[in-house]
Amino acid sequence: VSGARAHVVEGADVARWLPDRPRDAHKWRAACWVVAGSPGMTGAAHLAAAGAQRAGAGYVRLSTPGLAEDPGAPTEVVGVELPAEGWADRVLDGVDRIVAVAVGPGLGTGDAAAAGVRALVGAADRPPVVVDGDGLTALADDVDGDLTTARARPGHGPATGPTVVLTPHDGEMARLGGEPGAPDRLAAVRDLAARRGAVVLSKGSPTVVADPDGRVVLVTAGDARLATAGTGDVLTGALAALLAQGLAPFEAAAAAAHLHGRAGALAWRRGLVAGDVAAHLPAALTELPED
Ligand code: AMP
Ligand code: MG
Repeated sequence: VSGARAHVVEGADVARWLPDRPRDAHKWRAACWVVAGSPGMTGAAHLAAAGAQRAGAGYVRLSTPGLAEDPGAPTEVVGVELPAEGWADRVLDGVDRIVAVAVGPGLGTGDAAAAGVRALVGAADRPPVVVDGDGLTALADDVDGDLTTARARPGHGPATGPTVVLTPHDGEMARLGGEPGAPDRLAAVRDLAARRGAVVLSKGSPTVVADPDGRVVLVTAGDARLATAGTGDVLTGALAALLAQGLAPFEAAAAAAHLHGRAGALAWRRGLVAGDVAAHLPAALTELPED
């Protein structure tokens, strides 16, 4: 990646993008809904929920379609049951106070999961949404599908511009019709963002974030410590929390990748697990320069 052609995100950028917490903040501030996991596969859901909590969501709701109870979820998370099939309508009915949604990690690749993701993401009236993991696979069939037709409801997220963030690793990027190994990675990510009408956060070293309007930035904060199971799920939750705090999708994605990388660096030099990355997000937020 040619660093000369794109801005590298720094802590000062993130500090500038993050709004001050209002004095009259209440817990519904920055409320997120994480729809993730599947029966027997709940770890990804817990990590995404923890990522959202630790990146500043005041309230995190967690649903694993088809799972009635989840005693392993983080204590402060509010579980809401969803049916295994037809859950998107239930989410859309319940998003009144929810400012951002994260969908996909560990959701599984069955028909019901894929249909749910497509119905949720394609809805005309929903909060901004981060799509990761199996959620990306659900969107992959229609590789040229433009997600800009899906609009956030008034008062929920940006009035103009994209309302979907896709967070593929290389394999997921290929499934979405992107070109992970392209000689010009910046152009490939920018291309995918324009084609899908969504912000694309292409994970890697460095991470590349592109907006459909052509803007692109690099995030170099993460390193090989993050190459451990579940770190991507933490990133997804953190990104939703930043969307919920009012950052536009492009800035939310860039900020989440930066804070996630810094959290890994502030945790341990060796032996890091994904939960440690979530646990160190507050330290990454705290070390940001004063804006
Ligand atoms: P996932 O593949 O969905 O679990 O996501 C892995 C996360 O770890 C992403 O945020 C990647 O950018 C990050 N990551 C994994 N390996 C590396 C690496 N070698 N250098 C920098 N970041 C990495
Ligand atoms: Mg992943």
